[in-house]
Amino acid sequence: MSEATNGAAAPGVNGQAYPIIDHTYDVLVVGAGGAGLRAVVGCSEAGLRTACITKVFPTRSHTVAAQGGVAASLGNMGEDQWQWHMYDTVKGSDWLGDQDAIEYLVRNAPAAVYELEHWGVPFSRTEDGKIYQRPFGGMTTHFGKGTAQRTCAAADRTGHAMLHTLYGAALKHKAEFFIEYFAIDLIMDEEGRCRGVIALKMDDGTIHRFRSHLVVLATGGYGRAYFSATSAHTCTGDGGGMVLRAGLPLQDMEFVQFHPTGIYGSGCLITEGSRGEGGYLTNSEGERFMERYAPSAKDLASRDVVSRSMTMEIREGRGVGKAKDHIFLHLDHLDPAILHERLPGISESARIFAGVDVTREPIPVIPTVHYNMGGIPTNYHGEVLNKVGGDPDKVVPGLMAIGEAACVSVHGANRLGSNSLIDLVVFGRAAALRAAEIVTPGEKHRELPANSADLALSRLDRFRNANGDTSTAELRGEMQRVMQSNCAVFRTGEVLEEGHHLIHKVFKDSSAVKVSDRSLVWNSDLIETMEYDNLIAQAVVTMDSALNRQESRGAHAREDFPDRDDHNWMKHTLAYIDTASGEVKLEDRPVHTYTLSNDIQYIEPKKRVY
Ligand SMILES: Cc1cc2nc3c(=O)[nH]c(=O)nc-3n(C[C@H](O)[C@H](O)[C@H](O)COP(=O)(O)OP(=O)(O)OC[C@H]3O[C@@H](n4cnc5c(N)ncnc54)[C@H](O)[C@@H]3O)c2cc1C
Repeated sequence: MSEATNGAAAPGVNGQAYPIIDHTYDVLVVGAGGAGLRAVVGCSEAGLRTACITKVFPTRSHTVAAQGGVAASLGNMGEDQWQWHMYDTVKGSDWLGDQDAIEYLVRNAPAAVYELEHWGVPFSRTEDGKIYQRPFGGMTTHFGKGTAQRTCAAADRTGHAMLHTLYGAALKHKAEFFIEYFAIDLIMDEEGRCRGVIALKMDDGTIHRFRSHLVVLATGGYGRAYFSATSAHTCTGDGGGMVLRAGLPLQDMEFVQFHPTGIYGSGCLITEGSRGEGGYLTNSEGERFMERYAPSAKDLASRDVVSRSMTMEIREGRGVGKAKDHIFLHLDHLDPAILHERLPGISESARIFAGVDVTREPIPVIPTVHYNMGGIPTNYHGEVLNKVGGDPDKVVPGLMAIGEAACVSVHGANRLGSNSLIDLVVFGRAAALRAAEIVTPGEKHRELPANSADLALSRLDRFRNANGDTSTAELRGEMQRVMQSNCAVFRTGEVLEEGHHLIHKVFKDSSAVKVSDRSLVWNSDLIETMEYDNLIAQAVVTMDSALNRQESRGAHAREDFPDRDDHNWMKHTLAYIDTASGEVKLEDRPVHTYTLSNDIQYIEPKKRVY
């Protein structure tokens, strides 16, 4: 139970009193997507008093939209090993991933999938009753030689099945859910320890102070910094915004994944599983152009490679449609019974969002922002890291991050399809195991700093009374256009330099934001403004990190620096921002070029071809 005390403190901000309701827990998880829910289950199992706060109902988190599947080397449909999964993930990351963390991920992946199965995820089945696995981009056998069928799927609704099952598992335990509570900011003390979170209960406007020994940020990605994204409108990277305001860095933000097949116009995702089932791309000449760019993997090369090839085709005048600005994805040669059984969801999306019957016509598609490889730097226990003095891996006490909000870094410069869902459950569990090691259930809490709510409440109050001349929607639109045109699939120094000026201008202009609704009860204008504020800080560090990195690696493709430069750039970017002035400070952290155990050798960098 929480010790809720009404009106325990009522600090005045701008002469306005905001009574605070207090809660105390051992662990507080912010976010109820796949990562947050897995951590909630683990912490509760360990006997820790756990609360989970979430701005949307748990089963509405973006994890619900994941389609294609979850990667684990079960070997149900052909030979497979974790060592091959590790090789593929390191290669997919373009050697920016930390190999100790990658070993942890792939070794724990099979057990994590069986756990999901035991909890009730209705996986699709093979003839003999095993979990069905489909091939996905960049997933191979024998260290790059064969094609692996590694992606475990529940038709094309894997995320939906996982999220509902995880929520059910969480409800079996004693964890308490605070649903439709919006976390505003972290409570940090003078020693730099995280002590809790301040949140707004959206339906009645009350302010809640959550005190805990550990805060686990599982707030998802920030895809909505871009104009066209497959992610939900709620993917605004709120955890990343909180971390930046706490003076902590975000890592590798220049690496933004474009999924090759967003539906032209709406951005709605067509899973890579559709190419895994035999779908292929064509240009205006009807040519299967991927054969030219990736002779062996073809349409199943990794996402950055396919997205860039599509963009090249469009640029060279071979796009389809009136404006020759998109590409066709064909599924019309596949057996309608297979489409019905394995890809029912995307058949429906294609009908609704493109007006296409996939059994007869190709789907118009375009590369669309899909995933953030960058995020809050952590080790493989989920503990947040900062660079302090000479130590690049200094743990920030009391703070963890998992899921898409985090950068462990297992995905490095480019994530392989189906490696995110497995990241959620493996590191959600890892964070809970660590929490059980460092927190004793019921342990006494220290006094909170006197100003514990000031940062959050002054920010809330400032936006609530913001009376400038530009609406949040206008500012957000401007930010999204700049990111879409100046920080996309192909980048040059010139375009990024322009993007740097434009995005810093949007940041500055944000001080003139206008919020028209002054109430605290279900004020979507206010919530969207706080979300925008989180997005713009991350957009700025994304652009500046991209401008800084003078090489091409994974999703970061610089036309002026077309090659990967391991000598100068095999390192993580750390970006800090002064959220008052917008000034960005860039640092770096070495990549972990060692493995977790002696069971596998460090995988040496080589050229990444598919
Ligand atoms: C359309 C689509 C399809 C995908 N398909 C696949 C796939 O097949 N395989 C794969 O591996 N990956 C896939 N991905 C990627 C993967 O689904 C995501 O990376 C992953 O689900 C993110 O999970 P998460 O738990 O980190 O966050 P989310 O599921 O995004 O959840 C974030 C949670 O944080 C909460 N939250 C956020 N901000 C606040 C705040 N301020 N206060 C309180 N709560 C807050 C939200 O309420 C929510 O509960 C897909 C992504 C998309 C967009």
